[in-house]
Amino acid sequence: MNRAYKYRVYPTAEQEQLLTDTFGSCRFVYNHYLALQSENYQQGKAYRNKTACNNDCNRILKQEQPWLKQVDKFALTNAIYALDSAYQRFFRRQGGYPRFKSRHHSRMSYTTNYTNGNIAVLAGEIKLPKLGKVGAVVHRRAPEDWRLKQATVSRESDGSYYVSVLYEYEAAIMPQAVNPEQVIGLDYKSDGLYMDSDGRCCGMPHYYRKNQKKLTKAQRKLKAKQLQSVNYRKQQKKIARIAKKAANQRKDYLHKKSTEIANRYDLVCVEDLSLRALANRGFGNGKATMDNGYGSFLTMLKYKLEERGKRLIRIEKWYASSKTCSRCGAVKMMPLSVRRYECNCGMSMDRDLNAAINIRNRGYEIYLKAA
Ligand SMILES: [Zn+2]
Repeated sequence: MNRAYKYRVYPTAEQEQLLTDTFGSCRFVYNHYLALQSENYQQGKAYRNKTACNNDCNRILKQEQPWLKQVDKFALTNAIYALDSAYQRFFRRQGGYPRFKSRHHSRMSYTTNYTNGNIAVLAGEIKLPKLGKVGAVVHRRAPEDWRLKQATVSRESDGSYYVSVLYEYEAAIMPQAVNPEQVIGLDYKSDGLYMDSDGRCCGMPHYYRKNQKKLTKAQRKLKAKQLQSVNYRKQQKKIARIAKKAANQRKDYLHKKSTEIANRYDLVCVEDLSLRALANRGFGNGKATMDNGYGSFLTMLKYKLEERGKRLIRIEKWYASSKTCSRCGAVKMMPLSVRRYECNCGMSMDRDLNAAINIRNRGYEIYLKAA
């Protein structure tokens, strides 16, 4: 199993310069091969695989652009691999055509690989290739037997730096027996988080919504300011601060909720939603869909359940959870505006609760078949 620990780091001015160069070099390499692949693509030539691009980078590009030799070589390789992943998603029709990374609008980050002790989490410091030791807040340490795999260094929009260290570890966990009473289904809610099959509705907390409103207001204010003026930059910084606070609040909340569920239930059933598809469906609620963090909630839930020897079951996408009566199994059309499921068999229930019960039942069925 994999697990990442994220640390705040405080680079010196010199280290900060090297970080900026590394972010820039990764962006340069990414954009260089994107341009090359695009040209090939337009001329009907074959796609160049990531190994070929990486060899080209080492043999040719680094000779033409010698400054690339000064940064972490793994970072450049990973940038090439990230571009390849973007293309693979595009080929599988899971994503759009890869886009150029802009100096101003893309997240600043790079990933480097572990080899021969080049990365280490020490007391108050993190050791990284090329950078050496960087001052860090080491709030937790991985157990001795975990293997360090990678580190991702990033700069947030407010100028703070983080290192996310990825570990791999063997899970010696006994699978838990599933008590049928401890099985729960969750139905995704775009305007909250989920409705569970026991009828409990989980929304985002009030303070988070308040902060979101503040963010929208601050963004509106930015539009009224003159582009690139002092006040404009000030407002940009303010927005970055609010956005970061909102993101942290959301993460804390999602951690709290996922831990609660993982402690309490043996088996959790959810729908396998393609969030992107939902967001693009054009109900005008795309923003809510993308912003409420359901995807990261499910990721947290999955590893927390697995750590406890429990399971998350994803129901196939086509399963008509909201159209099926959870009592008699009849299926009917349910426009989004209809909030109650009324069935000829006499069942009458909140639409989301009915869906959550169906998800629970279907998930438990899948579990029993596999067991
Ligand atoms: Zn019915």
